[in-house]
Amino acid sequence: MATNRTFTMIKPDAVANGHIGAIINDITSAGFKIIALKYTQLTAETAGKFYEVHAARPFYKDLVAFMSSGPIVAAILEKENAIEDFRTLIGATNPAEAAEGTIRNKYAKSIDANAVHGSDSDENAAIEGDFFFSADERF
Ligand code: ADP
Ligand code: MG
Repeated sequence: MATNRTFTMIKPDAVANGHIGAIINDITSAGFKIIALKYTQLTAETAGKFYEVHAARPFYKDLVAFMSSGPIVAAILEKENAIEDFRTLIGATNPAEAAEGTIRNKYAKSIDANAVHGSDSDENAAIEGDFFFSADERF
């Protein structure tokens, strides 16, 4: 059953490049409601855990190092058809292939430093949201 919720992170590259405000504006302008929001930094250990599904991929070590290299913004977002619509809003994993006007097209530089995370399923959105937020941090 669709939960109408997704989970996102504004990644260290986009935070360092000063894009927090612009990206949150793009997200809310697209009709997503912010249910939870946090400015924090992952450690190598917590980033490793978050991306555990990618542990066998060749880029895992670099991904964990990058995601723990600076602060991130984590959020739970709500909208009808949230998972699919958010993936459309952010664009392809590789910003070189991301459609014009998408968040990755506008703010990402490379396939690893690609500005934002977006959940790929209702199940993972719930797991990822629980990773960062307790019940009393959701509104
Ligand atoms: P997405 O974030 O679009 O769901 P994946 O789940 O496949 O993409 O990968 C997770 C993250 O790992 C990507 O957002 C990106 O930061 C990184 N990544 C994916 N593929 C590569 C790659 N070929 N080389 C380096 N980093 C990658
Ligand atoms: Mg993914």
